[in-house]
Amino acid sequence: MTKFSDFANTLQASDIAELLALTEKPEVISFAGGLPAPELFPIEEMKQVDQAIYEKEGRQAVQYGTTEGDVPLREEIAKRMKKSFFVDCEPKDIVVTTGSQQALFILSQILVNKDETIAMESPSYMGAIMAFDPVRPKYIEVPTDDKGIVPEELDAILAKDDSVRMIYVIPEFQNPTGITWPVERRKAFMDVINKYDVVVVEDDPYGEIRYDIEKLPSLKSMDTQGKVVFLGSFSKIFMPGLRLGWTIANPEIIDKFVKFKQAVDLGTSTFGQRQAAYYCQMFDMDAHIKEINALYAKRRDLMCESMKKYFPKECTFTYPQGGLFTWVTLPKELDAKELMPKCLEKDVAYVPGGIFYPNGGNGNHFRLNYSNMPEDRIVEGIKRLGEVLTEALAK
Ligand code: PMP
Repeated sequence: MTKFSDFANTLQASDIAELLALTEKPEVISFAGGLPAPELFPIEEMKQVDQAIYEKEGRQAVQYGTTEGDVPLREEIAKRMKKSFFVDCEPKDIVVTTGSQQALFILSQILVNKDETIAMESPSYMGAIMAFDPVRPKYIEVPTDDKGIVPEELDAILAKDDSVRMIYVIPEFQNPTGITWPVERRKAFMDVINKYDVVVVEDDPYGEIRYDIEKLPSLKSMDTQGKVVFLGSFSKIFMPGLRLGWTIANPEIIDKFVKFKQAVDLGTSTFGQRQAAYYCQMFDMDAHIKEINALYAKRRDLMCESMKKYFPKECTFTYPQGGLFTWVTLPKELDAKELMPKCLEKDVAYVPGGIFYPNGGNGNHFRLNYSNMPEDRIVEGIKRLGEVLTEALAK
């Protein structure tokens, strides 16, 4: 028997993982993943991009690069940060990461010790909890309402607990709830955190996937004390398989971050970075994002209209103005995990909500993704879910 580390021994097969594995069968109408629509990946354009890279750069295109990332890509990122997130930054403030997922892992490693505390929205992104777990932190769930984190609650927590090292938030089109913080909420949040010695990680992979809401200033754009670390990603606006994200932080954090990243992977794929940079230079990324948003808005509408039509009225759901997810709340007596086998009998799936709470509980929610299924399957899948819910409530 192999002797594993204590942390590795905590990595057990979970019943949820087993259920989610079943959702991958092709006949299942799965609202469980968080996958972008593959039909919008710009494959034809990428053939031209790849050729241009080799023609211009030859073998250098696939040489090792710096840990911070290629300068032309960081220049493109700086432009996007200004235009879409109202942040002034330069390539030196940016590190390209292997997905923003890598940044979550590295940040927890460099900022938090075992038994120190990470505060996060309740609920929050399950993958972040997974990335933070190796540190063995404590988690505090900060209460949220339909406008995001409640600043007064956060203030009370920070005033009481000086072991909070990091506050992890997703202010735009949150995963899993789809909720977006209005500007006033963002300002009130910044007023609170400015009183404490704490780092805020603002995770924003969905900020440019917006349908019927104007661009709002990011927390980073309001940050006067260098406390906010901003995480961006090419996964939802471009192609997730390239595994490209970025981190923007103050020089002190960037320095430690780069040293840690060097140990993790030396640097992010140099060819992948060139693919993203060349695409931005040769084609119109904004037009591409517009196309994505038009398709997803249509799917969001269809999913919400179908839920209105087919779900029992005791079940409520969020109406996201961007991003990939809506969040369904069931009457307290129902448990979404327990209903999963019934859904799978009908070949339809969601993610049960409990796993988005780091300290557990809250079984009466589930997350639905609307970006990845074609329109006819969205309607049919929601209809089937409606049947399961109606039957469960009739008992
Ligand atoms: N943060 C959030 C909130 C996410 O939803 C995801 C992916 N679904 C990530 C980070 C990781 O994205 P990536 O590593 O592909 O950039």
